[in-house]
Amino acid sequence: MLKRSTTGKPLSTAQKRLWSAAQGTAFVAALAVIAGLIVYPDATLRLAWFGVVPLLPASFLVNAGFWRGVCPIATANTFAAPGSGRALRGSTLRVMLAAGMILLVVLIATRRLALNTEGPVLAGLLLAIVAAAFVLGRFYRSKAGFCNSLCPVLPVEKLYGQSPLIHVRNPRCVPCDLCSTKGCLDIDPVRAVTAETTPRLWMKTPFGLFSLSFPGIIMGYFLTADYPVAGVLDVSASIFGGGLASLLLLGSTMTVVSAAARVRLRVVTVLLGALSIGIYYWFAAPASIQAFGGAHTVGVIARTALLLLVLVWLLVALRRATKSKGSDVPGIA
Ligand code: SF4
Repeated sequence: MLKRSTTGKPLSTAQKRLWSAAQGTAFVAALAVIAGLIVYPDATLRLAWFGVVPLLPASFLVNAGFWRGVCPIATANTFAAPGSGRALRGSTLRVMLAAGMILLVVLIATRRLALNTEGPVLAGLLLAIVAAAFVLGRFYRSKAGFCNSLCPVLPVEKLYGQSPLIHVRNPRCVPCDLCSTKGCLDIDPVRAVTAETTPRLWMKTPFGLFSLSFPGIIMGYFLTADYPVAGVLDVSASIFGGGLASLLLLGSTMTVVSAAARVRLRVVTVLLGALSIGIYYWFAAPASIQAFGGAHTVGVIARTALLLLVLVWLLVALRRATKSKGSDVPGIA
């Protein structure tokens, strides 16, 4: 299956130019955001957390490849010559993927303690992430050292990008150089989330544990407030406590249901993705509108529109999950 992905049609010159321009623009925009976080922290924090970040989950439903094709961190990660460096496989890949999920949860909690309110701290973190992605890209092939392993955004891209509404090729992967031998989202979004064969096996994997915890983590995040660092216990109780409650509740439900009936793993992962992003937009859509001075009614309209998008995605993804035996990606069996 991996070999088949390397035989895709090359990008045309126009496509290459378009993607290069988009990648360059995104990289410059990221540098501007980092500078803005230091010089105009309040305005830039608002723009980043309430303007840009809330758009990303919806874009992952359409296709995570749009973001993955232009992401400035991925640009730093793939700066080295194509094909150079080691591919990532086996236990190293598994450990780095698990580390990325832990990093994501820690960063979500850190938002409440510093990253939502301290521009220079967020700027320093972003610079450190870009630097780490660049350095790891010198040792590991293409996206293997960060984008396809350690990046804390990757678990969210996988969960929401598992059944994309439209097809987009990642321009960094044409041709694919097999940088990560298992679970690459760009090769096959379905198999990126359903590497195990049954729900019972899957729920014990790091990604299974993450997917079951994530709805509660999101709810815990929105049900707490921004605190100074001294509020670490309140924030942890809400976010980690929410994650644990979600894991226990959804995990035990899944155990009972899968013991009583044959449930397709794809259906489970689709339902968990829709639940997580639905909770996210229930809170995030009105908060974003309010942050820019919009009326309450506009916030309700934005929430409704985004939840409708989630519903459309859910219906499409469930139809594929219950009917199709293979991948949603053309050319992948
Ligand atoms: S996984 Fe991380 S580095 Fe790769 S495209 Fe997503 S955000 Fe960027």
